[in-house]
Amino acid sequence: MRILITGGAGFIGSHLCDRYLAEGHEVIAMDNLSTGSVDNIAHLAGHERFEFIKHDVTKYIYVAGPLDAVLHLASLPSPVDYLNYPIQTLKVGALGTHNSLGLAMAKGAKFLLASTSEVYGDPLVHPQVETYWGNVNPIGLRGVYDESKRFAESLTMAYHRYHHVETRIVRIFNTYGPRMRSNDGRVVPNFVCQALRGEPLTVYGDGSRTRSFCYVDDLVAGIVRLMNTEVEGPVNLGNPQEMSIFNFAQKVIDVTGSSSEITFVHPEDARTRDDPKVRCPDTTKARKTLGWEAIVPLEEGLRRTADYFRQKLGLA
Ligand code: UDP
Repeated sequence: MRILITGGAGFIGSHLCDRYLAEGHEVIAMDNLSTGSVDNIAHLAGHERFEFIKHDVTKYIYVAGPLDAVLHLASLPSPVDYLNYPIQTLKVGALGTHNSLGLAMAKGAKFLLASTSEVYGDPLVHPQVETYWGNVNPIGLRGVYDESKRFAESLTMAYHRYHHVETRIVRIFNTYGPRMRSNDGRVVPNFVCQALRGEPLTVYGDGSRTRSFCYVDDLVAGIVRLMNTEVEGPVNLGNPQEMSIFNFAQKVIDVTGSSSEITFVHPEDARTRDDPKVRCPDTTKARKTLGWEAIVPLEEGLRRTADYFRQKLGLA
C-alpha cells in the first residue's frame, strides 16, 4: 500500500510511520511541524519507502501518484496547545479534515480519522461507550478541540454516506510513550520529566480526576487492525485501567525511583476548566470487532517512556 499519514512527524503519527514501513508499505508523512518534530522521523531519512512533505493540511493538499490510505492524525491534542492556538486547533479539525477527506476521495483511498475521547466532553456516562453522544461545552476553552473533532466525525460520516468513501473513526483515549514532547503540558510528560528532574509533580486540583493510559504501541496495533477491518462508526481505543491523577503521580514516582514530592496547583484555564472529571474507555466494541485490547502494563510503558525522556533531557 501507499499510505499518507498527516501529522506524520507527531507523537502517534511517527509511530504509525514506523509500523507501516516495517510491514513493507510505502509511507508519506505530512506535517507542518507546528507541534510535530523532524526528530521523530530523523531515523527514517533516506529510507527508500519513506517520504516527508512539509505542509499545513488546512491548505489544499497535493500528493502526486496513487494512494491506498489516508490516515488523518494532524492535530493539536494537548490542552496547553489548544489554549495557545485555539483557531489553528479548530482549523486543523475542520479544514484539515475536509482537505484530507477530499484527497482520499480523489485517490479512491481508505480514510481514517484520529478522533478523541474528548468528543464525550465531561462525560455523564461512565465508562464511555461509542453510543454515548457526550457532554461538551461548545464555548468553553476546551470546546475548540472537542467541537473540531466532533465536526470532523460528522464530516467523515458525510463523506462516507454521500461520497461512499471507505472510512474509519478511532476515538483515541489518553495515550503515552516515547516521542511525546517534554513541554507539551500533558500529564505524562509533565510528571515523568518532573520526577526525573527531582521537581515536585504538579497535580491540578485535588488529584481526584481520573484517566486511563494506553501505551503507544498498543494504540498503533489497534489502529492498524481497524484499518484492516470493516467496522461501522467510531471505535474507542484505549486502556480501561482507570486511576486518579494523584495515584498516577505516585505511580510515576515509584517507577522512576524519584524522590520528588507531589504538589497541588490550581491553574485557571483549559488545563482545569471543563477538564473531564472522569474518563475511561468502554472497549467492548474494539474487543469484539477487532479482537484488540491494550496489553502493555502501565509500569512497563512508563519505564520505556522514562528511558526516552532521560535521553532527551540529557539525564541518561
Ligand atoms: N494534569 C495534572 N498535572 C499536570 C498535567 C495534567 O494534574 O501537570 C491533569 C489534568 O488536569 C487532567 C489529567 O491530568 O485531569 C490529564 O491531563 P492531560 O493534559 O494529560 O490530558 P487530558 O486528558 O485532559 O486531555
